[in-house]
Amino acid sequence: MQKNAKLIFWGVRGSTPTLERDSWRYGGNTPCLELTTADGVRLILDCGTGLRMLGNSLRTVNHRWGEGPGEFGIDAHVLVTHYHWDHIQGIPFFHPFFEAQNRFHFYSFQSKYLGRNSLRQVLEAQLASPYFPVDVSNLRASRSFREVAGGDEWDITGTHVTAAWLNHPQDCLAYRFDMPVGSVVYATDTEPGVREKDHSIRELAHGADVLIYDAQYSPEQLASSRKGWGHSSWLEGVKIARESKVRNLVLFHHDPDSTSRVIDGFLSAARQEFPASWAAMEGMSMTLSERGVAVALPKSRLGQRRRLRFAATVKGETEDGRPFEERAMVRDLSLHGAYLCLNSRPRLQSELSVAIDASAEHESSLLSLRATVVHCDPGRERSQNGVGVVFVEDAESEMPRD
Ligand SMILES: [Zn+2]
Ligand SMILES: [Zn+2]
Repeated sequence: MQKNAKLIFWGVRGSTPTLERDSWRYGGNTPCLELTTADGVRLILDCGTGLRMLGNSLRTVNHRWGEGPGEFGIDAHVLVTHYHWDHIQGIPFFHPFFEAQNRFHFYSFQSKYLGRNSLRQVLEAQLASPYFPVDVSNLRASRSFREVAGGDEWDITGTHVTAAWLNHPQDCLAYRFDMPVGSVVYATDTEPGVREKDHSIRELAHGADVLIYDAQYSPEQLASSRKGWGHSSWLEGVKIARESKVRNLVLFHHDPDSTSRVIDGFLSAARQEFPASWAAMEGMSMTLSERGVAVALPKSRLGQRRRLRFAATVKGETEDGRPFEERAMVRDLSLHGAYLCLNSRPRLQSELSVAIDASAEHESSLLSLRATVVHCDPGRERSQNGVGVVFVEDAESEMPRD
């Protein structure tokens, strides 16, 4: 039995999936999170396109344990926040729904537009002609549905769940999960400005170890062109995190038009105000244990690297917030990123400046790059840290144009 609870982000993008290269670093799949409690109970939060990748990962785990897919079924609780496309569009592409040995327990609210069994209707309508080639009779996994509403509390095998209404067109629920090792609040698709909801989200988030919060827009957009669209900003997230004494704030539901650099900017602004801020990234995980919350970023999607050595001057901030500057060796370098050996241990998702000595023969030159930390390991050399970075400059500006 594991002693930790683990939260994995499979989809972090709001509204619609993105494929643009400059959105890759944070990811383009729409909302889907997996929360596995210390007792091994699996909760799935929202069914955006990230659900497909979760399905593939569960299948691998399942095959590893058993002889075949029939050996051990998946048993999971699926909590859906609301019925907008970006939160349900992964359903037809989740293999485990089509396998008879699996069991799913669904939770969502009764929509006034759909009436009773709203979630069941939504699920079945997605597998109907002419929208999808496979009909609902192929959904062989056993399914049960429970209608919940804001203010409801219930238990899922040792985890206490609380739901609260958010301010969003056609309604949306936030969920809080209280586990023996810590608490997670999932509050996406919400706009501040309605008194009782602003109050209830603060109440729901009170003392949470992790608050995942809608940060789709900049504070400026939220005050002007995007007012009334049902979303929020990093600034509101910071206010709630502070007022509710949250331990970690995760900016979530990134706008499809936000490039990775835009999200970098939101994160760095949020960290100025609330240092324990993170920007949700596809593949990122947060492990909750009695020792606190540990964050890990996915293995970066770097291309083929070259085994070269360059000297560089690296400036950044350590895990405990101190600035550092040191001479370092660049071990691998590509147009997208590098692997550095550093004495300092920079914070994940923090920005570094890397000045690489690119002198040739008699000509001295310096290649200055801004980078973000995506990985940190004990390093290939003793007492040093191996630090993976990706460069945040636009790839275009580095490449020659035709
Ligand atoms: Zn959404
Ligand atoms: Zn929505």
